[in-house]
Amino acid sequence: MKILVLEGDGIGPEIVAAAIDVLKATDHRFNLGLELETADSGLSSLEKNGSTIPEETWGKVTTADAVILGPADTAVYPAPIEGGINPSAKLRGGLDLYANIRPSKIRPGVPAHVEAMDLVIFRENTEGFYAVRNMHDGLGEFMPTEDMAIAVRRITRRCSERIARQACELAVQRRGLLSIVHKSNVLTMSDGFFVDICKEVASDYKLEVDEYFVDAMTALLVRKPDYFDVIVTTNLFGDIISDLAAELSGGLGLGPSVNAGDENAMAQAAHGAAPDIAGQNIANPTAMILSVGMLLDTLGIRHNRPELLEASKRIDKAVDAQLKEKGGRTPDLGGPLGTDAFGAGVAKKVKDGA
Ligand code: ATP
Repeated sequence: MKILVLEGDGIGPEIVAAAIDVLKATDHRFNLGLELETADSGLSSLEKNGSTIPEETWGKVTTADAVILGPADTAVYPAPIEGGINPSAKLRGGLDLYANIRPSKIRPGVPAHVEAMDLVIFRENTEGFYAVRNMHDGLGEFMPTEDMAIAVRRITRRCSERIARQACELAVQRRGLLSIVHKSNVLTMSDGFFVDICKEVASDYKLEVDEYFVDAMTALLVRKPDYFDVIVTTNLFGDIISDLAAELSGGLGLGPSVNAGDENAMAQAAHGAAPDIAGQNIANPTAMILSVGMLLDTLGIRHNRPELLEASKRIDKAVDAQLKEKGGRTPDLGGPLGTDAFGAGVAKKVKDGA
């Protein structure tokens, strides 16, 4: 099984290295037969190849079985025509990775802002307000005059149906509660459409279904986070509430995600490139490591390979054991460990059996 690694920018190379350390230990321990290959990406590739995702890298993306993508510092990228291609948008769109699955839970021993939470957010990944993703040609954001900027959002039946179905499939295996998050009181037509479709899909399942306006949801996530099970929402709302959920669980460095389509899958931490702490070996690689674990789970289900499922569980357990250990955390969680030492600790626990 071929896995392509794109390190990204900022803290990307550091957290990806820690995650690869863990993945190699897992591969060895469970005999997974993984082939890892790293390709040029991000700002280093822009300097070397004139593009953040050069043609050669894109060729490798399309032939790999799965991708591990480090965060990108897109805020400093030049325009796409000058080589500044947003890797996340390119891969999510190009591989049709329509479901961004972002779990957040309280992990033993980790100083969190709330007492109990174990939820999964399904964020639609291929349309919504994201200007580079929602048009066949051109951008969903434009300036008709120098004093006016307009952004349009696309919501389609197909994209809403498929994200809702993914969310329902997981909800029936968990506590059976699906919460739809939207803003249909002001985006009546588009979010109203999204909610109706989610309910339509959910009626095929034995589920309890409720719905919340996104503004109320930010309060409810703080007030009663333990109530929620599976949340389904549109692209931008999903991005925002998943950062909130990750922070409530202890910090942005804890939020993993997998981007899944029907054919492809990609591991990607929910947080960004954090340039303020890059190159200092202090970033928390937990989100990246757990994202790799989620990727193995996705591949295990898809290829019917129980050893991948087992390996994924082992990574999750090893992360918990590492986070629980005295002095076992990175500085963002009050610990003394460097990014590399945290990764090595998790890798050892995978090897030894946490
Ligand atoms: P993006 O829009 O690309 O997601 P962002 O602007 O939301 O990026 P992040 O890069 O996700 O910002 O992070 C915000 C801040 O949170 C960072 O500046 C950093 O201080 C902290 N942070 C993020 N990820 C980590 C991590 N893995 N470990 C430690 N701190 C982190």
